[in-house]
Amino acid sequence: MPPLAPVSVIIERLESAYGSPNWHPRYDPMSELVYTILSQNTSDKNSQPAFQRLRSDFPTWEDILEAPVAKIGAAIRSGGLWNVKAPRIKQILQGIREQRGPFDLDFLRDMPLDEAKTWLRGLPGVGPKTAACVLLFSLGRPALPVDTHVHRVAWRLGLIDKSVSREKSHEVLEGILPEKDIYRFHVLFVQHGRQTCKAQRPLCPKCVVNDVCPYYLGMQRA
Ligand code: SF4
Repeated sequence: MPPLAPVSVIIERLESAYGSPNWHPRYDPMSELVYTILSQNTSDKNSQPAFQRLRSDFPTWEDILEAPVAKIGAAIRSGGLWNVKAPRIKQILQGIREQRGPFDLDFLRDMPLDEAKTWLRGLPGVGPKTAACVLLFSLGRPALPVDTHVHRVAWRLGLIDKSVSREKSHEVLEGILPEKDIYRFHVLFVQHGRQTCKAQRPLCPKCVVNDVCPYYLGMQRA
């Protein structure tokens, strides 16, 4: 299913429905990295309190690095999958300590983008989405995080083929987006996926892009 409208038209329509997203940094890059690990496979509602508790129990990254995994796990238990995420966070801190020394990822701001992605993805448990979250949300760099909403909405609108994996779709979608549109594309597609283009029973008759949606038009014809 090829797209029936340029991606710029889709973005403009979604912006008319949901408003214009404005980028502002959420956390410093170290915090964004650890927060993103905590948010894997859970909602912000669970990951936010887990992150706050982690930061209050361990005021410095050094404190976490030196803590037993069980204590880290106790701090992040409310976020879910603590038994996976606690050792992962510790391994990431160990990796940063070994490679960089200080816990400061500001150097990623000036590194060529592909190198910055590769560096982050060399850390344990860091895939393309987590790397893109750090680069985009914290540093304002044009890397696209593809979550389940972005992936689903993109294939329904014909921007990627359904057979393209979520991992692979990072580079495919970045390849069709102007850098200046990456942040708003991400925010708008997540919002659209949550509110309208839901996984089960999308609200197609109310959708602002239904006239250019191959998925919807295909269902109409079936
Ligand atoms: S028309 Fe339906 S399937 Fe297509 S983008 Fe809108 S909600 Fe999603």
